[in-house]
Amino acid sequence: MTATRLFDLTGRTALITGSTRGLGRAIAEGMGQAGAALIVNGRDPQATEAAAQELRDAGLSARAASFDVTDEAAVEAAFHELDADGVEVDILVNNAGIQHRQPMVELSLADWQRVIDTNLTSAFLLGREAARRMIPRKRGKIINIGSLTSDLARATVTPYTVAKGGIKMLTKGMAAEWGAHGIQANAIGPGYMLTDMNEALVSNPEFDAWVKGRTPAGRWGRPDELVGTAIYLASDASNYVNGQLIFVDGGMISVL
Ligand code: NDP
Repeated sequence: MTATRLFDLTGRTALITGSTRGLGRAIAEGMGQAGAALIVNGRDPQATEAAAQELRDAGLSARAASFDVTDEAAVEAAFHELDADGVEVDILVNNAGIQHRQPMVELSLADWQRVIDTNLTSAFLLGREAARRMIPRKRGKIINIGSLTSDLARATVTPYTVAKGGIKMLTKGMAAEWGAHGIQANAIGPGYMLTDMNEALVSNPEFDAWVKGRTPAGRWGRPDELVGTAIYLASDASNYVNGQLIFVDGGMISVL
């Protein structure tokens, strides 16, 4: 295989959770441009179909699969629907996530649980369904979206930190259990990226200055800057890479 073909996703199907906007949307678009057929996901059926339509308008192959990633029955039903349509998920990107900022002493159990369910348990649910189908095929790629908080804590986002730390270890667990079946599971840890999730932070001059000062790149990241790493981890270029967490953060986690 030539070096450029190593990164070719032609003939592969990628399910990207939370891909109606933000990082998931950018990853979907990039994987589509690399040749993958896309399955777009979000909770809102209209927004999900609209995103799939926009990707099709851009000349990519995309279908919508709207479901809540925290709902075990809905996740199973989505995979059964794909089975019925003869669609095999070759690449799973567990990207859907939420943030909730609140001091821990004020945090309710319900908010703790919601963040853990959305950012961590969902990756188990989706990963389990995907792997059940990848194992007999002896091939598959799973990419879990972690965070700088997979390794470092920050005040007021503890459930998010716990979930993203869990993503790092879930990724290793997937590699341990499924590596022998030709499946590679790796994680990406994005730094501070310009998406809706960070709108409040970007428009806060103090926080904005902190991010720019704290990041060697001197700026926030753009969602499309995750695409190269995502394609690498989805493609044959990473066939002997398993259980890793790669930070795409402008260097932030490497410096004090
Ligand atoms: P956005 O808020 O921009 O997008 C989140 C996406 O997830 C939307 O498509 C949303 O659609 C979907 N989503 C949320 N909850 C669910 C659910 N229960 N079921 C299905 N879909 C859901 O977030 P980002 O793009 O910023 O973040 C994407 C991922 O990257 C998250 O895991 C986040 O933690 C992580 N990350 C982001 C960073 C950043 O700086 N932005 C940094 C590090 C990590 P809908 O609401 O319609 O369901």
